[in-house]
Amino acid sequence: MNKSDFQILNEQIYNRQLVYLDNAATTQKPQAVLDAIIDGYTHWNANIHRGVHHLSQVATQHHEAARQRVADFLGAQSANEIIFTKGATDSINMLAFSFGEANIHEGDEIIISQLEHHSNIVPWQMLCERKKAILKVISLKDDLTLDMTAFETLISPKTKLISVAHVSNVLGIINPVEDIIRIAHAHNIPVCIDGAQSAPHMPINVQQLDCDFFVCSAHKMYGPTGLGILYGKEQWLNNLPPAEGGGEMIEHVRFEHTTYNTLPYKFEAGTPNFIGSHAFAAALDYISQIGMSAIHQTETELTAYAEKRLNEIPNISIYAQGQPKTGVISFNIGNIHPFDIGTILDHMGIAVRTGHHCAEPLIDYLKVPGTIRLSLALYNDKADIDAFIPALQRAVDILS
Ligand code: PMP
Repeated sequence: MNKSDFQILNEQIYNRQLVYLDNAATTQKPQAVLDAIIDGYTHWNANIHRGVHHLSQVATQHHEAARQRVADFLGAQSANEIIFTKGATDSINMLAFSFGEANIHEGDEIIISQLEHHSNIVPWQMLCERKKAILKVISLKDDLTLDMTAFETLISPKTKLISVAHVSNVLGIINPVEDIIRIAHAHNIPVCIDGAQSAPHMPINVQQLDCDFFVCSAHKMYGPTGLGILYGKEQWLNNLPPAEGGGEMIEHVRFEHTTYNTLPYKFEAGTPNFIGSHAFAAALDYISQIGMSAIHQTETELTAYAEKRLNEIPNISIYAQGQPKTGVISFNIGNIHPFDIGTILDHMGIAVRTGHHCAEPLIDYLKVPGTIRLSLALYNDKADIDAFIPALQRAVDILS
């Protein structure tokens, strides 16, 4: 990995060198990913699957090779278990609709947690409203980790699904999903893991995790926007109805009755983002060359370094300090509004995110208006943190 693989990191913001620390929102793309997009549109752009002509066949081969690439990256048993979606949000919405149609009835229960992103709350809430089901929430302990004792007491014979984040997008905490899955399976309850914030930062093997469903977004993994993954164990996906109707997901269409395609196409209505999937495969090649274990280790060390240096700032409250974390740190300083700090940092060329981070129930729980969130990626280094800390101190001095 070379920082120069990411041209955008050379940008000047208000005549200052960009320091990009907003990677939990989206990551920058290496040249290899940009090249893959240009290559697709320049040399083999044609709609896939239905064409007899050469370009269509080439495009189809690239798309299906990308599916296999994702399956290998996530450790899936088969490429049939990899559904291309528009993003992690779309994946959860599709699953909530499809799983809900087949399995959720009045009075059934779905368990999520207090620290979920809105994308892993609202689709389940909508399902519960539609089916008169009940949404239950795993509470947090004082140290902001999941209360696993409370979790076990939430499980009942009515529990039909558990959906939790692997890594919190606000706190960076790595949740004990292996334990959640083991406990859930002892009750024959399937588990969906929201991997939007884990897949970019640590090795994932869905077979080892034994999760039933797993979702992630390509744009947070150095790939293109508008593309996500819904992984599901084949026996689950085979037994779920399609979430959307249209071309590609059908076997035969008659006005009286339509039969559906096999996996994975049953869940992919319409023209998929086949240039995006090819670019995503290039992103996965790029990060695999570095190695996910190496990325995890480097980012964990940099997170610890950033936490240590943040403690130099008087009156700072770092949330979930010292917990097992990857790449994300949220904090507040005294009573200063996070937005004010974020605005001043921006004028110094530093990109961080402030606010509720699409996790209002967690922010309400913390009883703050929002947080300042620093989030790291493989191209960040100590120099970025060393530029960030004095800039933050300066912002605090201006606002105090
Ligand atoms: N879950 C988590 C934990 C996230 O951080 C995000 C993105 N911030 C999402 C889901 C949704 O991802 P997307 O916006 O790419 O659909």
